[in-house]
Amino acid sequence: MPANKPKKSVSADPASWAPETRLVHGGVLRSQFGETSEALFLTQGYVYNSAEQAEARFKNEDPGYQYSRFANPTVSMLEERIRLLEGPGAEEARGTATGMAAVTAAILSCLSAGDHIVSARALFGSCRYIVEDLCPRFGIASTLVDGRDPSAWQAAVRPNTKAFFLETPANPTLELVDIAEVAKIAHAAGAKLIVDNVFATPLLQRPMQHGADIVVYSATKHIDGQGRCLGGLVLCSAQFLKDHLQDYIRQTGPSISPFNAWVMLKGLETLPVRVKAQCESAAVIADALAAHERIAKVLYPARTDHPQHELAKRQMSGGGQIVTFNIDGGKREAFRFLNALKIAKISNNLGDAKSLVTHPATTTHQRLKPEARAELGIGDGMVRLSVGLEAVDDLVADLEGALSAAFA
Ligand SMILES: *Cc1c(COP(=O)(O)O)cnc(C)c1O
Repeated sequence: MPANKPKKSVSADPASWAPETRLVHGGVLRSQFGETSEALFLTQGYVYNSAEQAEARFKNEDPGYQYSRFANPTVSMLEERIRLLEGPGAEEARGTATGMAAVTAAILSCLSAGDHIVSARALFGSCRYIVEDLCPRFGIASTLVDGRDPSAWQAAVRPNTKAFFLETPANPTLELVDIAEVAKIAHAAGAKLIVDNVFATPLLQRPMQHGADIVVYSATKHIDGQGRCLGGLVLCSAQFLKDHLQDYIRQTGPSISPFNAWVMLKGLETLPVRVKAQCESAAVIADALAAHERIAKVLYPARTDHPQHELAKRQMSGGGQIVTFNIDGGKREAFRFLNALKIAKISNNLGDAKSLVTHPATTTHQRLKPEARAELGIGDGMVRLSVGLEAVDDLVADLEGALSAAFA
């Protein structure tokens, strides 16, 4: 009898593996000790066998590490693992100290005084600061547009437009931008499209497959996933790395600590399990809230009543783990609700194993003028919930109990 033929043949090439497999085995640099778990290389520098080798290393003739501001083996493992997940288009990845360091590196490394950047106005507060306040201080003009409307992007293009920047789904309103449409407009204008993919996570949306040139992450969020370390990642082409990012990161030093990179690397192993569980709970919670008489509106991309549900189905493979909703009333009711929660914690963070609630108008988006908040649809009754890994029944009971308390 011939041996049973395997149903599927497996190649040794990580690029042929399913995402879950890439996230467990991708990018491993095993040392001479043959450790199972990835090693943590807490080292600033590296020693050379000879003066000749040092010379060759600096001339780029001898492959290897020089200094951990440039590269470090633990950081390399993280970079390769996330690069493999994004797939075609992501020829290179670089780790950074925070998500904001990644956003700043992506934008500033490729723009100069006299250039122009167009950005969606619905952005994470610090991203909006980079585009709206920091860029103009260095002679980079910026225009903020309603990201949902492709014609607004087109109308904002100038002869010197070099970059487009967007976040989809956006924080906290979960507004979407059509990445493929906006990429076409950017490329026709000779501009690069930079996408902040934090809310979708690297699992639910692959921006490069829709035409993005550069993808940035705050690894602080779902990639760590347990609220421990800060970190960021930039994914790009080999050309972009060579022309812009490599020198910017080497010389200005927003590098990630090897310890934090190690935490993120191990976080990637369990990312699919966590994101799947959180998305399932988020969908249940979104429906329970939508059915509640004290909830005026629920925003969740996987619900058919999300204004851009069709687009969500086209470019995302799940609704995500953030649910945003408007409570009847304003700040008073929202605060009473937050203060009555027993399991979910009040925090401006997201992507944690613990469910976290935020009142954007008074925290993450406090810096914006009231008119800017109104323009984005961030009202005083809006609450953003980052769904954690608790039992969904406990979470629904917590939310419903706090709503009752808020209106008692
Ligand atoms: C948190 C966040 C950032 C910034 O990340 P840090 O790691 O806190 O610097 C950028 N963009 C989005 C969408 C975020 O949620």
